[in-house]
Amino acid sequence: MTAPTRCRAHPVSGPEPRGHEDAALITAVRRGRASAYGQLYERHVATAYHLAHQLTRSPADADDLVAEAFAKVWDALRAGKGPHSAFRAYLLTTLRHTAYDKTRKNRRIDLAEDMTELGRLAAGALTVPFSDPTVAGLERTLAAKAFARLPERWQAVLWHTEVKQQSPAEVAPLLGLTANGVSALGYRAREGLRQAYLQVHLADTAPARCRATADRLGAWTRGGLAKRERAQVKAHLDHCARCRTRAADLDNVNATFRHAGRHPT
Ligand SMILES: [Zn+2]
Repeated sequence: MTAPTRCRAHPVSGPEPRGHEDAALITAVRRGRASAYGQLYERHVATAYHLAHQLTRSPADADDLVAEAFAKVWDALRAGKGPHSAFRAYLLTTLRHTAYDKTRKNRRIDLAEDMTELGRLAAGALTVPFSDPTVAGLERTLAAKAFARLPERWQAVLWHTEVKQQSPAEVAPLLGLTANGVSALGYRAREGLRQAYLQVHLADTAPARCRATADRLGAWTRGGLAKRERAQVKAHLDHCARCRTRAADLDNVNATFRHAGRHPT
């Protein structure tokens, strides 16, 4: 599977106004002039609030987020890091990452408190109908584990599109993407979730000589491996009966996706 691009700056609107003046203020901050940071704050605080309100649930949370983002950028500049010119893009990226970090911390607590809810979400994204009540609990737990393994950007796009049922156009500003970018990310995230879901069925019981193959069987089953890796897995399966059994098990699980309809494989 392809890892999503993280940490790329996506300013919410066009080129930065008065960018060369910002660059001079940034230089002044680095030289120790705190009042220059006050000027940068005045210039960009409204834009920061605009994004913060989209990423939080209450005005108080937005206040905290804006304050934290400005504090982080301040620390970065004083440590000789951070931007040299594109202040606003850097600030908004910092703000977005700070918001995700908070969400993830909250979600970890939710995960411990209620695996069932996360499992329901992941199951919805997988389009697996857990109709048999005797296996439904186990399947939800596995689905939740698979979801927890995904990169944060994939979790975020699934969260917004599957749980909150928001359209790509609505999610676009939250993730710093275009609507098409959200659709593409959502497609990759759902496929990544399916592969991870297959993978968690194997647990971590494979012996060392089977490890390289076992770790790829989720992607193998979904047809998601590159040519060279596919050849390596096939060579191992040709002489390892236990891994052939593992692969057959995953084929059975994978069939539940196909029967669920929405996915075209
Ligand atoms: Zn093997």
